[in-house]
Amino acid sequence: MPSPRLIVIGLDGATLDLIRPWAAAGKLPVLASLMQSGTATALRSTLPPVTPVAWSTFLTGAGPGQHGIYSFHRLDHDSYKPQPVHAGHRRLPSFWQSLGAAGLTVGQLNTPFTFPPEELTGFTVSGFDTPAFGPGAAAPTEAYEVALHGEDGYRHGPVPLHPRESYILRLRGQAMGQARMCGRLLDRWPCQVLMTTFCATDHAAHRLWPTGASTTEVAEEGGDLLAAYQVADEAVGQVLEAHAGNDTGVLVLSDHGMGPAEGSINMTRVLADAGLLKLRSRAEDQPAMPPGLRAVRAVRRFFAEGAGRALKPLALRLMPERAKAAVAHTELQSIDWGSTYAFPWGTYGQIQINRAGEWAEGVVEPADERAIRRDVAQAFEELVSPSDGSQVVERVVAAEELYPGERAPGSPDLLLTPEGYRYDVGPRLQRPDAPTVATAQDEGGEWLDVPAIHRLEGTLIATGPAADRVARLADPGLEHMAGVILELAGVGGDSDHTSPPGEAQPYTEEQARQVEQHLEDLGYL
Ligand SMILES: [Zn+2]
Repeated sequence: MPSPRLIVIGLDGATLDLIRPWAAAGKLPVLASLMQSGTATALRSTLPPVTPVAWSTFLTGAGPGQHGIYSFHRLDHDSYKPQPVHAGHRRLPSFWQSLGAAGLTVGQLNTPFTFPPEELTGFTVSGFDTPAFGPGAAAPTEAYEVALHGEDGYRHGPVPLHPRESYILRLRGQAMGQARMCGRLLDRWPCQVLMTTFCATDHAAHRLWPTGASTTEVAEEGGDLLAAYQVADEAVGQVLEAHAGNDTGVLVLSDHGMGPAEGSINMTRVLADAGLLKLRSRAEDQPAMPPGLRAVRAVRRFFAEGAGRALKPLALRLMPERAKAAVAHTELQSIDWGSTYAFPWGTYGQIQINRAGEWAEGVVEPADERAIRRDVAQAFEELVSPSDGSQVVERVVAAEELYPGERAPGSPDLLLTPEGYRYDVGPRLQRPDAPTVATAQDEGGEWLDVPAIHRLEGTLIATGPAADRVARLADPGLEHMAGVILELAGVGGDSDHTSPPGEAQPYTEEQARQVEQHLEDLGYL
């Protein structure tokens, strides 16, 4: 069987900030030798740098505005309820189809956001967004039989953290199983281009990064996170040893980087404090509302209405901290939509303007939208770190700037980009009492959902002809990779992507629940 022309290995969330020192110290021998014989560079992720958005850009060579995946979720305009998305919601086919159209056979195993599986000339086994691993997770269905069965069957999905003492061992078991499965699948469907993605690097970092530790400290201490990277290193070695020939080009890449969560920004509370979002108070349902709370709500209403908004900063400083916390709430349904101008959603800084006529209880008229957007930006951009007074939000960027041209539906109106992506951002609806800005030092990291979060700079390692091609990229970004892969596979420049698929079937309720469970396991929700 001839070797593939190109092998692409995804390492979800792998950062060169750790790979470089560990490779230099001889702790990641496989990656070190690839870097030595080829090239290694940072690979720019998407905005936001979150798994579904980033892998969708990798798969299509297009930005979120074109492929239409903006987050783990999309929002229902009638109920405001978030619904998990999958690859079926993507508006562009993957570059695999262009390879197939050019007569190449391709194989894909476990790359995130590939469910439901596309029909390829070769095989595909869906990744992270697969609700339950079964025949529906693979195309052709026979690939499922090949991938699942046998004495060392493939284990799909995130490895549970507990029991903690055997976590790394189980992580390794899964990765080695996946590497073996590549062999079984290739035996059945020999491929010219093979891709497989290992997720140990991402999942382990979200879970095992010591709270508050800098990247340098983690690089020095190693520990279990190093062990997880060594699992990935060994798995890459297995795949290449078994399937790479002398002329095979190799690309190892990640969808985003990783670093410590230095703090967290409670977006709901920032907007509520600015009078731009109203939470239904529990006290509202009770007959006797404490006078302090009534005053707070009156003040907030004042800010929410025209002229009062200009006075916001000074007066808010006079509002008692505890009263503010008391009006916060735990569920998305607790937002009083009829009095809310802007609201956060998603997991990485997405903000929506509650436009009249677009959302069930929208209140923002076109004439007011500019002022609301300006107020939202101001509310976030003036936030400072409680520990050193530094700015925590770099910018609040408008979708028009972020995703230029005609945008696929579901785009956020604004996206908050934290300084250096060092702060975790999110609605924090389940933690309404969290401070607006908390640092990893506050109460031992009590307010952080995860100790490590995504960075914009992912990893790109290339050897052989792939290294030469990568070296010609001025500012390598995930959106370049589809073109690079097509070129390396000998398929002419611009791929003629087939027409966008029709309206996707949403997950069934049971599937949605299973996917939510995966996300929750990783601390995304
Ligand atoms: Zn990822």
